[in-house]
Amino acid sequence: MALKLFNTLTRSIQEFEPLDSSVGKVGMYCCGPTVYDFAHIGNWRTFIFGDLVRRVLEFKGFKVQHVMNITDVDDKIIKRMAETKTSLAEFTGKFEQAFFEDMEALNFLRPHHLPRATQYIPDIISLIEKLMKNGLAYRVPDGSVYFSIAKYREAGGHYGQLVKLNFDEMRATERVASDEYEKEAVADFALWKARVPEDGAVFWPSPWGEGRPGWHIECSAMSMKLLGPSFDLHLGGEDLMFPHHEDEIAQSEGAGLQGAGRPFVKFWVHGAHLLVEGRKMSKSLGNFFTLRDLLAKGFSGREIRYLLLTAHYRETFNFTLGGLESAKAALARLDECLARLREGAGTASSPVSPGGNRKAGDEAVPAPLLKDFTEALDNDLNVSGAWGVVFEWVKETNIKLAQGSMSPPEAAAALDTWEQVNSVLGIAKPPEAEAPAEINALLEARQAARKAKDFKRSDAIRDELKSKGWLIEDTPKGPRLKRG
Ligand code: AMP
Ligand code: ZN
Repeated sequence: MALKLFNTLTRSIQEFEPLDSSVGKVGMYCCGPTVYDFAHIGNWRTFIFGDLVRRVLEFKGFKVQHVMNITDVDDKIIKRMAETKTSLAEFTGKFEQAFFEDMEALNFLRPHHLPRATQYIPDIISLIEKLMKNGLAYRVPDGSVYFSIAKYREAGGHYGQLVKLNFDEMRATERVASDEYEKEAVADFALWKARVPEDGAVFWPSPWGEGRPGWHIECSAMSMKLLGPSFDLHLGGEDLMFPHHEDEIAQSEGAGLQGAGRPFVKFWVHGAHLLVEGRKMSKSLGNFFTLRDLLAKGFSGREIRYLLLTAHYRETFNFTLGGLESAKAALARLDECLARLREGAGTASSPVSPGGNRKAGDEAVPAPLLKDFTEALDNDLNVSGAWGVVFEWVKETNIKLAQGSMSPPEAAAALDTWEQVNSVLGIAKPPEAEAPAEINALLEARQAARKAKDFKRSDAIRDELKSKGWLIEDTPKGPRLKRG
């Protein structure tokens, strides 16, 4: 079955097909962080949604080019940078590094390209020049350049592809220079912002005078440079739909590089926001969490990832600390089942070729877990359905293991199938590290002591192992070492 997604452009759930379906490649752009602070869990909800889309596409066999921009120059950055008396590169470098560390903690697949806006200034300038040439942009006396929505519409451009706009209510004379997007009015928007004294050393030369790029044009320039003027998939949080993404379409299609009948982007997919305990996150309400805040509370990256992956992307998600506790418990159930499966499989290898419960010569039959899991995700990324399938499988597997009705090759086959599911979820705990020789020797000594009924000694060895971070679990198949 094909993957279906809600395309904001058509306001409908559509089968996802890349622009060029014959080559199996997908160009995917996700609006990334503005590096003026640590990313908060709302940001991470949206970014992880992008990671999930990429993993699902790769699972389905597409070769994905994932681009995520880093906005490393804007009003907020300049303000904070001045407050901390650091240079632009020093200031943004610190938060960019933190962003990459968070990415690792969340087992986020690193995008293929992470372009920084400040490294694309020549591309941004040349895109603005094209818009000037096409009569869609104009310079004002202070040296700033604006995009003219009226001219774009006169030239046949469609402004309002993602949202319905009432042009009568639009104040055509209002121009908003701020790139605080929530404050931007429906009006012409800045492509280039003339240098002002508060910008300090943050400016670049341009044909219109010294200044810096507006926020929207960065994404148009970087996405088209790295993925071509027309690409498959563009993602972001729902707040970016307007004006950011609408402006990206206007600039990119206004530059006219796409070729007849080709759009800038075929699929626009937006993720809903995250609330904390039912309220918008805000520092003043004390419900604002960065990823680091949660790690400091003792939660792990995978617990946070799991929780953020439990809600459907088009539903507002209510994040709670209680939810994280439940995530811990759910993952412990999964981990326990996988550990038992590994033990059950022993050294057996799966008789199954990847993707199905197949014995040599049989027809390929996808394992039920894989089939149901894929069906759920194909249905507009129904993650709660997909998790339901996973935990049902955990329950059934536990029953089979308890009954002793799973042979080692069957356990190995189940693990193979799980690996494929996990390539999409990215949630499995890395397998326990092999115990070092010294620890194995202690385990053997303990077994010898037990055999000799020297329980004092065997208990002492158990305690010694514990102090070294290893627990012994006695199972019907003998003792098992576990990290404590
Ligand atoms: P920003 O760094 O503010 O440009 O935001 C980066 C990404 O996070 C954008 O895609 C936003 O839509 C998204 N975002 C911001 N706040 C939230 C939130 N509370 N819940 C989910 N996504 C958010
Ligand atoms: Zn963007």
